[in-house]
Amino acid sequence: MNGAKFLVICEETCPECKGAGVVSNELYQKLAEYRQAWKREHPGATVAGQLAADDEWMLEKGYLPAKWPAEEWECDECAGLGKRRRQVELKEALNELGKTSKPTGQ
Ligand SMILES: [Zn+2]
Repeated sequence: MNGAKFLVICEETCPECKGAGVVSNELYQKLAEYRQAWKREHPGATVAGQLAADDEWMLEKGYLPAKWPAEEWECDECAGLGKRRRQVELKEALNELGKTSKPTGQ
């Protein structure tokens, strides 16, 4: 055994994208919130008015019309797979399994 280490591969859901394989740009979540607030303040506004307000908001964030950033992109952490693999020591893996596994009867 002379210092031999047993290693296993642990595959887990990517913590960065939660398994989706893509990461969403938070900017668009904020834009959606801004839109709702804007609509409340401007009842009966036209679609063109809404779009102009969107453009203005994006411009405030530093993005020119038609130069908006991507809404989502492939996750760097897992290269879009949604899963991540890492090597762990068998000892560590068994320890972790002992903590998290529940008897399922399978
Ligand atoms: Zn990921």
